[in-house]
This record gives sequence, structure tokens and C-alpha cells, in this order.
Amino acid sequence: MAYLITGAKVLSSESPYSFPARDVFISDEGIIEKVALPGKLSASSTHSDVVDAKNKILLPGLINTHTHAPMSLLRGVGDDLHLPQWLRTCMWPREARMDAKTMAIGTQLAACEMIRVGTTTFNEHYFHMDAIARVVDESGMRACLGYSMIDRKKSGDGIEFDFDGKGKDELAIGEKFAKEWNGKADGRITTSISPHATNTCSKELLVESARLAKRLDVILHIHLAETRTELAETLGLYKKRPAEFLDSCGCLLPSTVAAHGVYVSKSEVKLLASRKSSIAHCPVSNLKLASGGAAPIPEYLAAGVNVSLGTDGAASNNSLDMFESMKVGAIEQKNFRFDAAAVKADDYLKMATEAGAKALGIKAGVIKPGHLADLVLIDAKSPNLVPFTDNAGWLVYSAGPQNVTDTMVNGKWLMRERKLLTLDEEKILSTAQKTADGLK
Ligand SMILES: [Zn+2]
Repeated sequence: MAYLITGAKVLSSESPYSFPARDVFISDEGIIEKVALPGKLSASSTHSDVVDAKNKILLPGLINTHTHAPMSLLRGVGDDLHLPQWLRTCMWPREARMDAKTMAIGTQLAACEMIRVGTTTFNEHYFHMDAIARVVDESGMRACLGYSMIDRKKSGDGIEFDFDGKGKDELAIGEKFAKEWNGKADGRITTSISPHATNTCSKELLVESARLAKRLDVILHIHLAETRTELAETLGLYKKRPAEFLDSCGCLLPSTVAAHGVYVSKSEVKLLASRKSSIAHCPVSNLKLASGGAAPIPEYLAAGVNVSLGTDGAASNNSLDMFESMKVGAIEQKNFRFDAAAVKADDYLKMATEAGAKALGIKAGVIKPGHLADLVLIDAKSPNLVPFTDNAGWLVYSAGPQNVTDTMVNGKWLMRERKLLTLDEEKILSTAQKTADGLK
């Protein structure tokens, strides 16, 4: 179905952002074909259905570049515990009980939330990825999916790895999944090679992951310098900081999406910039887990690093709300630097849209001819959005998921007038509650 969206204010394609009135024509192949001044396009000439978007804002769909969707079932578990205790007593025992069916239910729950918050694409690594991929297919969302690989031994006092046993098995699972699902679901699914982190994967596993990602021409998705423990363990093992060590393993590629990037030095910022790798900045998760410090966002931006935005899993956030991540990220930086001008709303809107698309290698994140019709409508006639000030700050600091009315991916509506069209939300919510209760 082709659509002509009329009457909306449309996010400009470049920063500094504004919202000029435009009509947007979407072809039945799900591509933005024309963006024109109001009244210049007609439904009869474009053979399309007219969508009256008066009083609405049209945005590119938000792109969440780091999450673990099934962890939605673990939302609220052990909220106020220290990280090691939270992992040992709450997360790991429950994750061990999560099978493919549970993962599917968790992903359905996450998809309901993401479509409602205006997220059209997410970058995922976790376990039982086939089950997650099938839910992406049925939900109509776009996603980059990778199997999370770990070969660190769980027992023992020191840090030991088992590459020849576990590591090789993990690589085989990761490769099989990445090959099987890349380009599936009408091209909405792409895949990644996803080693977990520098202190949970052996050097051999990281080296082989980089080779594999290059050979398959897919994203390499990894956690980077999220915590001080990760930094200390990596320094202890290799006498190198996490980004330096990843580079020595060949893992800093232009197709690398490194999540968090909190504890990096100035020279590592330069290194990431020179390798053209992307950072998936996850401010809400970092604050909630008390990572301490703050990712050096002004330095990343000044060095030209592509910084995108992620929520991380709902267990450590506790939502998948990209509006919240934009706002919290920006105000965290301002506060941390004693400088209200340290970052701009424009920076964070770009992270959630255009930079996310760049990180994942998809032609989206901007409303321009030739780009994917992954779009979101916002009701501007809401108390929290008046007065309209026609700039990025209006959206980043004032808007929230409650303002999202419609979500489209690949030219197909996943939500119209706040009703989900591809997922049975009522059934998913009750099944998710029962499943989460069963994990206790
Ligand atoms: Zn994560």
C-alpha cells in the first residue's frame, strides 16, 4: 500500500533540526519517495491512501542500538541491589531458566513496548536467537540480531577461558545464526557477530569473531568498558585498556557497535574515531547500575565518533523508552560537566535516529527520498508539548512515549491511533506476567 502523509510537521533531515510542514509520499515498496511542500503532491497522481496527520509531527522511527529484548521479563527484579549481587542472585539464575519459548514471550513483550515508544529498529544480542528472530518477523519490526558468545569459565577463583571447548561451540552457533537469518523477513532482519565483552571472552574468541564478522560482512556488536571491573580485569589480563585490547584483536571495525564505552581514555576515543567504530551510548542503564562516571560524549562527538543510543535490556533500565534515554543522556552529561552547553538536544536526537541507522548500516533514520519508510507520528496537541518551539529540544526534553500515536516499519503500520496491529497485546501481557512469575 502506498501512502501520502499530509498536514504533518516533518523533522528536517539535518541538524540543527526543525519541523517544517511537508507532505511525504511512501511507495508500496516501503520507501520514502517524495518529500514536498504541502499541496504539491496529490493522492490521485501518486495512487496512494491519504493519511491526515494534522497536528502531528512525523519523525524517523527511533533506533535502539543496544538491548536484550527478552530481559523485559526480568524488569524490576532486584532493582536496588549492587551489580555483582544483582547478577549472581537475580539475573543469572533466572536467565538459566529461560528457554526458547520464554525468550519468544519476552521479545513479544519488548516488541509491544518498543512499537509504542516509537522504536522501529533494535540491535540485539542474547541467547536462543531463532526464537527472537521469529518474533521480529511476526511483529513487523526491523532488527539487527546476534548470538551473545561467552567462553569465560564460571567456576574458579581467577579468570579462565575455554576457547577450545566452549569458545569454538559459541562461534559455530553465532555463525550459523548470522548466516541463516541475515536478510530474512523481507530484509527487516540483519545479523551480527556478538562476542559479549573483553573480560567474558577469550582473546582467541575475539580474534575469530572479528574475522567472522568481516567474512560475513555483518555488524560486530559487543559491550565495551561498561564498568570499572571490566576495565580492571582487562588491564589485569592483557595490560591493555578495553578498546586498545579490542583493537589488538581486530575487533574495532567500521561495522563495530560497541555498547556503553564509559571507561575509555582520551587516546581510546581517538582510536575509536580512527577505526570509524560506533558507540551505543546507554545512559539510563549506566546510571541505574551505578557504573559511576559518565561516557565521554563531548569527546566522542568532537573526535567524530558515530555515537548512537541504546536502552540496554529492561532489567537494567527498566524501560525501552528511547525518549527517556535521549533526555537522561543529555542531562546526565550537562550535570556531570557542570556545563549546560556540554551537549545539545540536536546531538541526542541525531543519536536516536540518523547515527543509529549509520551504526547498523541501514538506510533509515532520516526523512528523505530513497530512505526506508520507518516512521513515527507524534501528537503535538498534548499538554506536555505546548508551546511548540520548532527545535530539537522541544522533542528531546519534553516529549515522551505517551505522545506516540502511530508507528510504521517498511511502509507498513505496526500501530495506528495507539492500537497495535501486528501483535495481540492483551494476550502477550497476560502470558508475559505468568511467564515472569514462573521464573521466580
Ligand atoms: Zn548489554
